[in-house]
Amino acid sequence: MTPQKETHAFKTEVQQLLKLIVNSLYSNQEIFLRELISNASDAIDRLKFKTQTEPDILGDDTDFRIKLTPDGIKQTFEIEDNGIGMTYEEVMENIGTIAQSGTAAFMEALENTNSDTLAPELIGQFGVGFYSAFIVADKITILTKAAGDDKAVRWESFGDGTYTIEEADKETRGTTITLELKKRADDEPDFTDEWVIRNIVKQHSDFVSYPIVMDVERDEPIPEGEQLKDKDGKTVGETTRKVIKEETLNSMKAIWTRGQDEVSEKEHEEFYRHISHDWNPPLTQLHKKFEGTTEYTALLYIPSKAPFDLFNPEAKHGIHLYCKRVFIMDDCEDLMPEYLRFVKGVVDAPDLNLNVSREILQQDRLVKNIRRNLVKKLFELFKNLEKEEYEKFYEEFGAVLKIGIHTDFENKDKLAELTRFKTTKSDGKWVSLKEYVENMQPDQKDIYFITGDNMAALLNSPLLEQLKAKDYEVLLMSDPVDEWVAQSLTEYDGKSLKSAEKGDLGLDEVDEGKKDKYDGLFKQIRVILEEKIKEVKPSTRLTDSVACLSGEDHDMSAYMEKILKASGQQTPDTKRVLELNMDHPVMDKINGIFEKDAADPVLKDYAGLLFDLATISEGGKIEDPGNFTKRVGALMADAIA
Ligand code: ADP
Repeated sequence: MTPQKETHAFKTEVQQLLKLIVNSLYSNQEIFLRELISNASDAIDRLKFKTQTEPDILGDDTDFRIKLTPDGIKQTFEIEDNGIGMTYEEVMENIGTIAQSGTAAFMEALENTNSDTLAPELIGQFGVGFYSAFIVADKITILTKAAGDDKAVRWESFGDGTYTIEEADKETRGTTITLELKKRADDEPDFTDEWVIRNIVKQHSDFVSYPIVMDVERDEPIPEGEQLKDKDGKTVGETTRKVIKEETLNSMKAIWTRGQDEVSEKEHEEFYRHISHDWNPPLTQLHKKFEGTTEYTALLYIPSKAPFDLFNPEAKHGIHLYCKRVFIMDDCEDLMPEYLRFVKGVVDAPDLNLNVSREILQQDRLVKNIRRNLVKKLFELFKNLEKEEYEKFYEEFGAVLKIGIHTDFENKDKLAELTRFKTTKSDGKWVSLKEYVENMQPDQKDIYFITGDNMAALLNSPLLEQLKAKDYEVLLMSDPVDEWVAQSLTEYDGKSLKSAEKGDLGLDEVDEGKKDKYDGLFKQIRVILEEKIKEVKPSTRLTDSVACLSGEDHDMSAYMEKILKASGQQTPDTKRVLELNMDHPVMDKINGIFEKDAADPVLKDYAGLLFDLATISEGGKIEDPGNFTKRVGALMADAIA
């Protein structure tokens, strides 16, 4: 820590975010309070969690609360908590930056958005959080002291691109944030007014589980004995006096303990926002009290939009664990499998040991039971969603949900029912495996799929020509995780899933006479291309194109290889099979040259061209594009002449 005051610039992305928040949330000013209260409540949660391993950390300051202090004359608003506080480093790290993992995604999203119509959705994805205070404040001061530290930190900013930070003094643990409010227009709410504040707290933060308190001025009757009386004993002057009283503004009711029908949609929305820090309302929720051997209550929400860090394995999980309404921990990963990590909510398990640690939790039978039950209930919830709603959900979270097929053996079949695919016949719409099977051709035995990263290239892949000619539908699998799905999901409804890219499709008998005719040429091409391919075969896939690349049954698919290489893994190059279409007129011509003079140097050129054509047709990169275009140019000149 440096004792001097230092000035720092906000990271570029934070400046952008600030501008965005202030511009687009102007009509929603009051949300700043919800966000600051949420942060304060989280800070207390985190401190509470820490007391399990460091019981002395609280000292005498054991009554958790969040205090609001408005000042109508100075036009300031202060919010104080006795939570975990922040060290100098934490302030530097947390305030003035966007979480590391989100920065790149944020900048990218920003680039793709028209800055005049910045949708609240975008902000929602990244969370407005602390910065929303700049909607209402010209200047913000944070004074914070981390639990266990002697020194405090003061952070100040006018939201103009820079902030200052310095060492400071503060008596108590926790964070005090002071807003110097902007001058407001007549039709804007006064955030120093008691009733304005009460309303906001009631509406957005009623269920926060710590008291949100405020000093309020009240008229109190002056007791008889203390009243001023004249000589006749008649009361003179005031009969009431002003007193300042601290009042708690929120009911702290744990909404999950109420009956399913007793919680309104609005309340769900607010509670969801509080625990998820998501700006968008949830898609739907699961609210249930489980009775029997394992008793617990769950209130789980399915977000309507995927967060930017959906695929970041370090992203926080969404389950908060409570025991008899007492907070135990957030980010409770043991209650939800990895592939449902986007689910947010609360689980309250009365039989749980209050001093449970993350390590013990992993082994806990009770926790395992709850998890198994919740997964089951969530599957039911997904299954019962209306088609349109389910597809909306699947667009956002399907790519994560599918991971379960690979990782959760027990639920593989149920998850297979939940997957949706785009296909060669679905015209961009989602198809379930059940629908696929219903639409199979009478002579079709297997379920066909193809993997790759480009939907358009997949749809037009020459590997599918024969399948299309037979009117067989093919699943187009373009999520990276689909490679793992394909490995694990080998069967559905008694039918094998077969890669259109690998092995012999065995759709039609190969014409043996033709095969013999081309045998010599194919062998020669194989020798010419030895470095690049492992075999040359008469194609069982092509009808129109002349060449394509396929794999053998147990080869790694081309897409898998690409994914592994992109993630930096050492992967040997898998040589592929060059399939040639014996019915294509070009092959007949090349064979003519070969039969005339097997040593004709032009054969080498043509072999290279066939390989390049096969590569291009699947969206691959050819090794020597200059050479390729020269050859094609020469061929065109010949053909046109
Ligand atoms: P979010 O809350 O969505 O993570 P914010 O921008 O609101 O984003 O806050 C950034 C971080 O700053 C928080 O994650 C937390 O670590 C820290 N922080 C904010 N407010 C407080 C507070 N009152 N006490 C302690 N830490 C806080």
